[in-house]
Amino acid sequence: MKVLLLSENIPQLNESKETLLRHAHFTFLVDGISRACSHQLVRHRPASYSQQSQRYVAMKNFPYVTPDSVKGKLVEIEGKKYCYDDLMAFIGRFYEALVEEGVPKEDARFVLPNACTTRIVFTMNGEELVHFLRLRTCTRAQWEIRKMAIEMLKLLQSKYPELFKDVGPNCYYLGYCTEGKMSCGRPEEVRAYFASLCKGEE
Ligand SMILES: Cc1cc2nc3c(=O)[nH]c(=O)nc-3n(C[C@H](O)[C@H](O)[C@H](O)COP(=O)(O)OP(=O)(O)OC[C@H]3O[C@@H](n4cnc5c(N)ncnc54)[C@H](O)[C@@H]3O)c2cc1C
Repeated sequence: MKVLLLSENIPQLNESKETLLRHAHFTFLVDGISRACSHQLVRHRPASYSQQSQRYVAMKNFPYVTPDSVKGKLVEIEGKKYCYDDLMAFIGRFYEALVEEGVPKEDARFVLPNACTTRIVFTMNGEELVHFLRLRTCTRAQWEIRKMAIEMLKLLQSKYPELFKDVGPNCYYLGYCTEGKMSCGRPEEVRAYFASLCKGEE
């Protein structure tokens, strides 16, 4: 996964942090995340997105994300053992065969998995960005979007420490957990992690 802060526009105003964030815009480029991750990202509505097209870009030897939990796992089907990479290679061959048969890429892509990587550029204003980071840096968030959100936060904190030093999951941002029964139950540990992150220690 590659996360870049492409550009930002923060007005030169002698105003509160909240006002500055409301009028500021941040554009990120993220490359190498799975489609499963980008699908979660684009659920955040007050933002603009441009994503690599699977309709026009050939997905020959498509790159994909492998979750740690499936690494080394073998699955037995009808007496034969397969690993995750076997399935990805089969899907890749099937996709290519469809394209060679004249199936348009926009239809051949129906066989591609959520694991397939993508590249996406998005712009959020500062207020939405903080909302996104509060939700997606939380341990409740799925691991890949959480990893991406933490990379974004690191970039923002190193460039704009005053605006982003307090940003993190709600247990860090608000000082208490808002997840109720779904809480990870480790707010002290999570708070300590984000406190060290904003000091550049992670
Ligand atoms: C841990 C976690 C688990 C999730 N699990 C699921 C799941 O199982 N299934 C699922 O479908 N989704 C799931 N989601 C996604 C979630 O339902 C939302 O789609 C996602 O969080 C984005 O919506 P949002 O309200 O947080 O904020 P955004 O879309 O980022 O918007 C920010 C804020 O702007 C305001 N806003 C935005 N658009 C409007 C509008 N049209 N009208 C009025 N106000 C608006 C709201 O105040 C909103 O909170 C999950 C999210 C998280 C963080």
